Amino acid sequence: SHNLSLIRQYLDNARQAPASTQPDTATARLGATYIWAVIKANAYGHGLENGIRGFAQADGLAMLDLQETVRCRQAGWDKPLLMLEGFFEERDLPVLQQNKVMSTIHHPEQIRMLQSATLATPLDVFLKINTGMNRLGFAPQQFAQAHQDLLTLQQQGKIGRIGFMTHFADADGAQGAVDAPVQVFRETVGNIQGPISLCNSAAVLRYPQLAVSEADNWVRPGICLYGSSPFANTTGDEFGLRQTMTLQARLLSVQHIKEGQSVGYGSTFTATRDMRIGVVACGYADGYPRSAPSGTPAWVNGVQTQLAGRVSMDMLTIDLDPVPDAVAGDWVTLWGERGPHIDEVAASAGTIAYELLCALAMRVPVHIE
Ligand code: PLP
Repeated sequence: SHNLSLIRQYLDNARQAPASTQPDTATARLGATYIWAVIKANAYGHGLENGIRGFAQADGLAMLDLQETVRCRQAGWDKPLLMLEGFFEERDLPVLQQNKVMSTIHHPEQIRMLQSATLATPLDVFLKINTGMNRLGFAPQQFAQAHQDLLTLQQQGKIGRIGFMTHFADADGAQGAVDAPVQVFRETVGNIQGPISLCNSAAVLRYPQLAVSEADNWVRPGICLYGSSPFANTTGDEFGLRQTMTLQARLLSVQHIKEGQSVGYGSTFTATRDMRIGVVACGYADGYPRSAPSGTPAWVNGVQTQLAGRVSMDMLTIDLDPVPDAVAGDWVTLWGERGPHIDEVAASAGTIAYELLCALAMRVPVHIE
């Protein structure tokens, strides 16, 4: 909830910023901004129910999987739900209706399914426009037909509200990289009224004016709500975010090795002095990245040290010299609030925090604070 409040604060600040710092406000009306907390991929590895509980203050939840939407309702979530890629099969439609789930419409096949389906109550939808990501969505030249088809379905009572959505490829890239897609989006939608949804975490943090410059604006932050930065070479700390996941494991044993001896598979680490090595009960089968090299930070008893040697399936090894009092059984923090930032570990492993969070293995016991 800290991260959610912080994001609301970013949005409120953007709303209160002088008009001169807000591009396009000449044509835009300042309206309400709502937050879909993105809880796809098992709430970015945190467990769906934990995501539902943790984001109780969000205006809606967005996810990918139909069964996840059902679980949200079963868990008592009574606010909006959005399927980010929408439904795949006609038989999904009654489930969406029963659970009052909104669907993204990104493909003509989905419209065809709506045309042939018998729907008891209207389905609210977001029409997705491809503004340059070239992954999902209608091309601008397909938009008019798709929108017309949805309006016809609306008249038939199958469709309720129609919103408009796009997803940025480079909101975390160079400053201004969203200008062209935003222009395509605005030109495509024109004066048509309806909710809009543009911003992921990077866009909310970097271009918050986009999230407040239109009425009925739904932002879709994911990673920042879990405390990580969507930008390279930064950590969530720099934005005041708090990490929501801590990965800890215990020291299984302590080895004393001599200068010149090496550690682990491939002998990738060779001691340059006599030293103590801690063997930690966590490996790539737990979701810790095998690509994390020697030097990747890890903390023992609140003291920072680092990996020494290759990560194996069930274990990894660390330099214990900075922590002379450490003994087998002590806890090692591999990432989290009282350890290295997951964004640092990810950078060291040549990946992003998204991948580390999602890769957390089922076998890792979860404790909820
Ligand atoms: N919206 C869509 C359509 C997405 O696919 C995603 C995730 O990739 C998000 C929002 C959330 O992105 P982020 O975690 O970068 O905020």
